[in-house]
Amino acid sequence: ADLIGAGAARFGDAPAFTLVLPDGAKGTISHARLDALSDRFAGFLAGDLALVPGDVLAIQLPNSLHYPIAVLGAWKAGLIVTNVNPLYTSREVAIQLADSGAKALVCHELFLAPVREIAATEARALIVASFADTFHAVAAVGEDGHQEVRFDDALARGVPLSPRRRHPVALYQYTGGTTGRSKGAVLTHANQCAILHMARDYMQAFEVTLEPGDAIITALPFYHIFAFNFNFLLMLWSGVHNLLIPNPRPLTNLKPAFDAFRVDWITGVDTLYAGLLAEPWFGDRPRRLKLAVSGGASLRADTAARWRERGGVIVEGYGMTETSCFVSFNPPGPAARDGTVGLLMPGCQARVVDENGDDVPPGHPGELLVRGPHIIERYLNRPEETATAIVDGWLHTGDIVIMDQDGYLRIVDRKKDLILVSGFNVYPNEIEDVLTSHPDVLEAAVIGVPDAVTGEAVRAFVSTTRAAVTGEELGAFCRERLTAYKVPKQFEMRDQLPKSPVGKILRAQLRMPSGAT
Ligand code: ATP
Ligand code: MG
Repeated sequence: ADLIGAGAARFGDAPAFTLVLPDGAKGTISHARLDALSDRFAGFLAGDLALVPGDVLAIQLPNSLHYPIAVLGAWKAGLIVTNVNPLYTSREVAIQLADSGAKALVCHELFLAPVREIAATEARALIVASFADTFHAVAAVGEDGHQEVRFDDALARGVPLSPRRRHPVALYQYTGGTTGRSKGAVLTHANQCAILHMARDYMQAFEVTLEPGDAIITALPFYHIFAFNFNFLLMLWSGVHNLLIPNPRPLTNLKPAFDAFRVDWITGVDTLYAGLLAEPWFGDRPRRLKLAVSGGASLRADTAARWRERGGVIVEGYGMTETSCFVSFNPPGPAARDGTVGLLMPGCQARVVDENGDDVPPGHPGELLVRGPHIIERYLNRPEETATAIVDGWLHTGDIVIMDQDGYLRIVDRKKDLILVSGFNVYPNEIEDVLTSHPDVLEAAVIGVPDAVTGEAVRAFVSTTRAAVTGEELGAFCRERLTAYKVPKQFEMRDQLPKSPVGKILRAQLRMPSGAT
């Protein structure tokens, strides 16, 4: 109850969400209006769609005003939400719907075609409520064909629902799918409440103040845990105005939000910041922000340095879907330590262990295990993966980290991405960091490829600002900065590197035989 609807009483008519399209701001909803509309949407879900507490509602929307209405409405109706990547193909959507057992799907008109394909072949009834920017809606009920409803009508018909018994599960939240098939993390309302309090306490301790009336740019998609918990829930709870960017490509799509509002906050993945810094219009905008938060993947030293050269403050956080987003955060100000992801959230315990599960001393690399009230208890439908990932409440993150004497964490790399060259460990992040420090390199990704002599060899994929940059030049650049065995043996120039919709570079995709982009 703390999270749902509290904003209406505290922030009333202050703006909660504004949709910003490439040609400018398109509609705002206040906290009070969000509360009223989500009451009605809850009524529509419970009444017209006859969904009952514990049923699952899938939401496949780009960042839009509908998103918070759908989520809060679902929770008010006692439903479990599963966020679906808007760019999924019908096959991928079908897999997630089946795995999560979703009874209904809310989607944007843009994504309706693949969803109609699924609805046509589904044995069980699937209700599709599709909302275009005009609030037009379609409901398709299994083989019975389509029943079309305008979203306006759905909201009008929905009798505001008196609060229902809340199901303990808030989300079936699927992991990023960076390393393989994405898994459904079972996040409870207790997990979510815990992490929001932990994040707030942490920020207060380091005097990072989220003021009602501040504005944040949300260019990361809400379907991913980073934007969902940080941009959506934490900011809503704090009265911060969300400026929603449905599609951050091209990056000029962010310009109208910067032009029309006084922006205080932004979140992103390294590739977003590196891209913005390369935009001619971006100028001194970093200086005008209170804070930029980077997460999801390693923040390149070069990106951070260039952000700071423009007078901006940028800090890195670390977390996972399985930890309700946050594990640690580098506090801005005097306590910051560059190149680290900072200190653990209060209430989050950590261990760093070797291959045998024994704790390693501070300053030594090992796998990070975390425990706390924000950690999932299980994956959905995956007892074996649950048993290996979560032991006695300790989540095995799969990330190699170094924790120093004072508790600052440095993310070395993912265990799965480690490359073994003649028996030496090579961590892709270190090589990528060197490559991106080259003035002409935009993005870099490093993987291991089989090698007859050394077992594995380092192969680098690079996108550059200048077509003339050669592998030889980059090899020489690396040799000056890295021990011989770490220097990439092969270079491949690419116009673009494959990325997830959040902006994480997909090394796994580069490892596939075709190297498909
Ligand atoms: P999957 O688990 O499906 O392969 P994923 O791990 O990318 O996908 P998420 O839960 O979205 O799914 O991402 C969590 C992971 O992202 C972490 O385990 C870590 O590897 C990486 N990560 C997050 N923040 C950082 C950071 N600041 N620096 C380096 N890596 C990070
Ligand atoms: Mg993961």
